[in-house]
Amino acid sequence: MNIKDKILVVEDEKSISGFIRAMLVSNGYDVIIAHSGSEAFSMISSHCPDLVVLDLGLPDMDGMTIIETVRQWTQLPIIVVSARSYERDKVAALDRGADDYITKPFGAAELLVKLTERILLVEKAASGHGYIVRQHSERPCDAVVLKAGDEHAAPRLHDGAYRNIERVRGVHRKNNVGA
Ligand code: CA
Repeated sequence: MNIKDKILVVEDEKSISGFIRAMLVSNGYDVIIAHSGSEAFSMISSHCPDLVVLDLGLPDMDGMTIIETVRQWTQLPIIVVSARSYERDKVAALDRGADDYITKPFGAAELLVKLTERILLVEKAASGHGYIVRQHSERPCDAVVLKAGDEHAAPRLHDGAYRNIERVRGVHRKNNVGA
């Protein structure tokens, strides 16, 4: 059985989150929704999503704060979807560690393409050989990935990437049986 990639949509406008949810579900993604920043933090920790779609204008905090905080401990991909269309807002979000930036109003196809691209990148990175994966014990949804023999370089992956590595390994193991 295929495990679906889980997308967390952080958006306080129900019409927009509903639209994004319908579009992603019909394209085979699992979708969870947070309506505020504090909800987003707790859902990132408890659900370990594979990617976050983030609105910047939230009722309890600025989405920029979410990017900054999440980036202190995980490389979980973040795509900003915001009505702020100034160049400086895009630069500020990307600077803080967002992976991509889409301006509202946006088309379903644009978000889907960027999101799929981002998830495929993670899967590609995870399918490399020679990695030692250690689940980080203090930080939920975070896996430390050490390249074998090079323990100084320690890129940190989010849990979705960790699951992808396990998935790829599972496929390899399966294929090697009887080979
Ligand atoms: Ca908003």
